[in-house]
Amino acid sequence: MAKAKSKARKCVCCGKSYVYNRRDEAPYRRMYCSENCKGIFKTVSDFVFGKIDATKAKAELKSFDLSGVDEFTTDIKEVIEELNGKKKKVEEKEDSNE
Ligand SMILES: [Zn+2]
Repeated sequence: MAKAKSKARKCVCCGKSYVYNRRDEAPYRRMYCSENCKGIFKTVSDFVFGKIDATKAKAELKSFDLSGVDEFTTDIKEVIEELNGKKKKVEEKEDSNE
């Protein structure tokens, strides 16, 4: 009967399911599975909302573990890939037939 205080949640950053235990856990666990995800999410949203520029965002992302980036929520992943230059910009098309 003591089950009710644990709740299954989905991390808004990496999309992983985890169990949140309200009594025992840090407040960030309401939205993120780890402090790492919390930090990544904050950096990405700060960048998206123009609070920090790409240089700062990149520097901040370096302090986090991005090894699971492929599993991240699409929105987060796209921003991280863009910042890391993995995604080609649409303007940079290879075919230049004039
Ligand atoms: Zn996570």
